[in-house]
Amino acid sequence: MARELRIDGLLIPVEKDGAGEYLKAAARRLGIPAAGIGVVRILAKTPVFGDRRQFYYELSLAVRVPAGYKNKENFPRYAAKPVMRYKPAPAGPRPVVIGFGPAGMFAALELIEYGLKPLIFERGKKLEERHADVRRFIKERKLVPESNIQFGEGGAGTYSDGKLFSRRKNTSYAGKVLDTFIKFGAPPEISYVSKPHLGTDLLRRIVANIRNHILARGGEIHYGSKLTDILVSGDAAAGVVINGSAEYLSPAIYLAIGHSARDTFELLHKKGITLEQKPVSVGVRVEHPAATINLIRYGAKYGNFPGIGAAVYSFNYTNRRTGRGAYTFCMCPGGEVVNASSEEGLLALNGMSCAARDSAFSNAAIAVTCVPADYGSAHPLAGFKFQRGIERKAFLAGGGDWRTPAQNLSDFLRGRRSSALNRNSCAMGTRSADLAGLFPAFITGTLRSAFKQWKKESPLFVADDALLMGPETRTTSPVRIRRGKNFMSINMRGLYPIGEGSGYSGGITSSAADALKAVEAAMNRGATYWASGSDPVIL
Ligand SMILES: Cc1cc2nc3c(=O)[nH]c(=O)nc-3n(C[C@H](O)[C@H](O)[C@H](O)COP(=O)(O)OP(=O)(O)OC[C@H]3O[C@@H](n4cnc5c(N)ncnc54)[C@H](O)[C@@H]3O)c2cc1C
Repeated sequence: MARELRIDGLLIPVEKDGAGEYLKAAARRLGIPAAGIGVVRILAKTPVFGDRRQFYYELSLAVRVPAGYKNKENFPRYAAKPVMRYKPAPAGPRPVVIGFGPAGMFAALELIEYGLKPLIFERGKKLEERHADVRRFIKERKLVPESNIQFGEGGAGTYSDGKLFSRRKNTSYAGKVLDTFIKFGAPPEISYVSKPHLGTDLLRRIVANIRNHILARGGEIHYGSKLTDILVSGDAAAGVVINGSAEYLSPAIYLAIGHSARDTFELLHKKGITLEQKPVSVGVRVEHPAATINLIRYGAKYGNFPGIGAAVYSFNYTNRRTGRGAYTFCMCPGGEVVNASSEEGLLALNGMSCAARDSAFSNAAIAVTCVPADYGSAHPLAGFKFQRGIERKAFLAGGGDWRTPAQNLSDFLRGRRSSALNRNSCAMGTRSADLAGLFPAFITGTLRSAFKQWKKESPLFVADDALLMGPETRTTSPVRIRRGKNFMSINMRGLYPIGEGSGYSGGITSSAADALKAVEAAMNRGATYWASGSDPVIL
């Protein structure tokens, strides 16, 4: 009988990248003709770009070998992982999901696997209408506070670079997230490349497919439906109030609100749900021509080589004296800087890319770590006040019409305004400003020291064609909704804070994985489902 073996460490020159070459390389390693084997699966594909004279991909493959093959080199056997089977949940009232970003979507998908039909409430609009609002904001400069880059079907991740964690570096939950994205339209390569990404164009298609699947399986999605109150019975959640009037009873509420629903955090605080401050990073976006970054990372030979994608980078810096760090975050190669504001008069930036990552610019956040002591108050929501203060200054510095305050990096380092700004990708326009004026002195100081350090490591990175735009404030949530090991709020049973807004995850993959874990915990460890009648009981 034919067997399947795993072969690691196959080096393929990037110029020859392709299935035929993989087969030949595997055959050479096995010592048999290519005609006798078949590639069953690509298990890993990692760029090996250390030697600028020749770039390679390193591959791990699962291959089928003929029955009589003598495995003298003891290649390990390959066996596909078994598919998880779900035990249906007992019939009961419908679980509620608040928010339809990655965490809400994956919670709903998982609940459906257990045979449940979740009720989903999303304050923003359906994706197609949301997309029209996002475009209108760029054109007409009128923000729709409930429908923008933060709020609406698909959540904040929809307008993003769609960077995902790779399967190898993370848990089986991350693997499941990748498999789910593939099921709903992502290319299979995200399951084996070392730095998977989707891109906003692809993400929008995937979100629509997920929505259709949920609806087809009996889930309900209510748009323009904001959680405005939580019904409580004793120390347990008993239901939700939507848009101030409609009540829906349920003892299981998955709260997947993201990090920008500041009004909803105020509601949680008012309800006495335990919240605590947590660190958040704040800084600027730096943007370069993609060609500059490609040259820095790939060198002259591969700087314009098609097929290896726009180059990524990461830099880190810690100030030994203050202990304060700065680091590159959410890098978007071949992407654009976007206005990710969600409140009137408060400006926040972020970055996104399309699947092809083919714009003429590459950007990244340069984020400085801030700790609760920086917020100036012990109030659990003080971090929002801290973020808002910076966002307000940025709005005004941009001229109050949603242009982005910007400064050439070289001028920022010299402490002077730019007389002419470098070309950039910001669709809503830029306005020359002194970015130091947006931030507390410790952020500006750390940014300047970091760039000075990086100039020594990579002079082209801190060169004349780099532009800074600000501010980047929404890197994560400055609040944590305290929860126990059972994923429930520590003082409101049946309330499952999940995803970025819970304060226990960050980014698309980990927020989606967090939702999977919470649903699993609820299903296996005595979730709150109504046995019968209308009174919530804990089973
Ligand atoms: C421009 C941009 C680029 C990004 N790029 C990346 C990237 O490349 N990779 C990555 O991993 N992460 C990226 N992120 C971060 C990522 O998008 C978030 O970490 C992720 O979306 C968090 O998922 P979530 O479901 O927890 O929250 P969100 O995606 O924020 O979703 C929360 C949802 O809840 C809804 N909501 C809030 N309050 C209420 C309420 N009271 N009632 C009803 N609905 C409510 C909101 O409208 C929203 O749709 C990016 C973010 C932005 C803004």
